[in-house]
Order: sequence, then C-alpha cells, then structure tokens
Amino acid sequence: MKIVMKFGGTSVADIKKIKYVAKIIAAEKAKQNDIAVVVSAMGKTTNALTALAHQITDKPNLRELDALLSTGENTSIALLALALNAIGVKAESFNAWQLGIITNSEYGDAEIKRISGPLQYMISHGPIPIIAGFQGVSDFRDITTLGREGSDTTAVAIASEAKADFCDIYTDVDGIYDSDPNVNKDAKKLDFINYDDMLKMAQSGAKVLHPRSIMTAKQNNIPIRLRGTFTPNDVGTLVANTRIKQ
Ligand code: ASP
Ligand code: MG
Repeated sequence: MKIVMKFGGTSVADIKKIKYVAKIIAAEKAKQNDIAVVVSAMGKTTNALTALAHQITDKPNLRELDALLSTGENTSIALLALALNAIGVKAESFNAWQLGIITNSEYGDAEIKRISGPLQYMISHGPIPIIAGFQGVSDFRDITTLGREGSDTTAVAIASEAKADFCDIYTDVDGIYDSDPNVNKDAKKLDFINYDDMLKMAQSGAKVLHPRSIMTAKQNNIPIRLRGTFTPNDVGTLVANTRIKQ
C-alpha cells in the first residue's frame, strides 16, 4: 500500500515525541508500505514565530511573515529524518522549495497548484521523504504558507499526487466523536464520516482538519484516516465518500 502519514505539532513537540513518531513510521515501513511523511512545526513554534514578528510591527509584510513562519517546519523535518536515521531507517527531509510544492502568491493563504518534484519515484525508490507541511513556493520563487493548520492540506495534496491509498493524519485526538469527549464521557468515536459532513464540521470551527484539505481529498477521492499518535494501532475515523476496506 501507499500511505502518506502526517504528524501535527503536538505529535512532534519535543525530541522524545519525535523519536516516538520515528518508531511509528518505522513500523509502517516494516509492513512493506510505500510511505511519504508530512510534518508540522514542533509544538507552538508557529505561534512563537508570529509573536516575534509582532514585536517589530502590528502589520508585518506578508511576504516576510511567510518566510519567517515557514522556518518552523524546516526544523521538524530535519529532526525527524535524523531520528529515523538513528534507528536505521533511511529518510531524507524536503522543504517545499526542494520538492517543488508550487503555490499561487496568496501569502498566508496560498493554494497548491502542482508538485513538480519526482514524488512517485521518491516514494517507491528513495529514502522515506519527510516533507515540510504548511509551506510552498510561488512561481516567483517566494516562500508562501497555506494558512494556519495548512499541513493537513499539504498531506492530502501529496497523497493526491502520489495516488496514495490512504492519507493518515495523526494528532493528539484519536478520531472524530459524536459529541465533545472532554465534556461528555459517553461520547462515541465514529469509525466513518463522509467528506461533506466532515467539511461542515471543519467549517463550523472544529479544528480537526484544515477545511481545504477535505475539499482536496474529496476532489481526488483520497481516503483520510484521522488517527491518534498515541494510539497508533487504532485506525481512527475514516473520512471518505463511502466506507471502504482498510
Ligand atoms: N505549523 C503550522 C501551524 O501551526 C501549520 C500546521 O501545523 O498545520 O499552523
Ligand atoms: Mg491540525
């Protein structure tokens, strides 16, 4: 199978967690799957970078803000590649510039237009590509970002380009619940939700998935599995057109 695995900021918040995530990736690779990995910045790095810019000006220039915010993901990809190498798994980090994640020039809310690098080849023949989420590069060679939480959209775009069987999005929650599990102790985890219902949830403010990632998944018919990083044996909630064999 071909699988894109995406890990959010809380999953790579410190070195201990990065080492743990490396083990999840190694286990998936050991099952003979072809894999690409997408990561967010560590913990609250993007917030911290935004705050730095705001110490200089209330209205940062958007081109420079994107150049700044994109650096968070550059750190996490390199550390995760090092953690994989340290346990004997071949992996290489790629930022958007290296992989050719080409976007329009809408700084802070850029849309991916195409992926120009040899992604298919890299996934099937190379070391595991560890790809920076959230960032892109415009046709004018400026760094762009896809909007907060945009790494989900990077992951689905990579999965679409690679024609992956699944886009597995790992976070600190293990799926979608029928009500808020923090409030309602009888909340039940859904094993399936369709794209449209998921989109409605995301648009009404549930911060589980970047709305554009769901639209991209629907357009390209990419099944997403929302999975818990700390419950990696559970397949989580499937977001797709219909229930499919996993
Ligand atoms: N690091 C970016 C953010 O915090 C992108 C992401 O995490 O998806 O918004
Ligand atoms: Mg997220």
